[in-house]
Amino acid sequence: MSAGHTAATTRGLVTPGLAETTGRVILEARALRKSYRTGAAQLVVLAAVDLKLVEGEMVAIMAPSGAGKSTLLHLLAALDTPTSGTVYFDSKPIESNAPAAVAQFRNRAVGFVWQRHHLLPDFTAIENVALPLLLRGDSAEGSRRIAGQWLNEVGLSARTEHRTGELSGGEQQRVAIARALVTQPAILLADEPTGDLDEQNAVAVFDLIERLHRAHRLTSLIATHNVALAGRCDRVMALEQGVLKLRGVGPSKMGSTSGGEKS
Ligand code: ADP
Repeated sequence: MSAGHTAATTRGLVTPGLAETTGRVILEARALRKSYRTGAAQLVVLAAVDLKLVEGEMVAIMAPSGAGKSTLLHLLAALDTPTSGTVYFDSKPIESNAPAAVAQFRNRAVGFVWQRHHLLPDFTAIENVALPLLLRGDSAEGSRRIAGQWLNEVGLSARTEHRTGELSGGEQQRVAIARALVTQPAILLADEPTGDLDEQNAVAVFDLIERLHRAHRLTSLIATHNVALAGRCDRVMALEQGVLKLRGVGPSKMGSTSGGEKS
């Protein structure tokens, strides 16, 4: 556990969606709103989301399908822009009107894992993992070397030259996790990363995420339907009617909270 992780405390529900935290806030959302206009109607997916992620935390978001989890994670990763409200990385607003800064944030600050791996099926595992490094201008040789190290770290050193379309679901998700982390981001955002896997593979992939989270001192936000897996996180948030609320605190936080009240 990183120092920031140890320092972070959660004291139950203070402000809806904003657990009182201490430590360095690495990613913050303030009053995030996202609405879509469909014909004459307006669909408000996120009404006013407030969230602070303290360095080293592992936080789960639980909500039924359609509640807006993907929308929120995409906004936090600057893959989409909010209707209003702001995302801050390291206390600085991510200005959507500064494309170069946004691109750098996406490539270097955040690693993103989707429910469906989004790998290039005709490319090998090592080519898929090396891609973010090549895109940021690293050499081909250096990118392959680092990608190989990551594939080793996710337990796939024997699959580096396999086309990802030929790998199992669990292996594909491991490649996707290696690709998300190859640029050594500070933050890992994962959108139902085990949602497409059977229970055994889901647990194995979650174990891997948890191990990498600790080993690389990540700050992680994971959307999941799986109550048992969410319960292993430091905090569990619920997305309800466009607002984030604290559901509870995980086992590693129970000792440092005032009872760990649940909403
Ligand atoms: P979740 O990830 O929780 O399943 P999503 O964030 O994918 O939910 O979607 C939340 C809601 O927003 C859904 O009702 C979905 O249909 C709607 N939605 C998502 N993207 C768009 C879009 N581009 N235009 C209109 N509605 C959208």
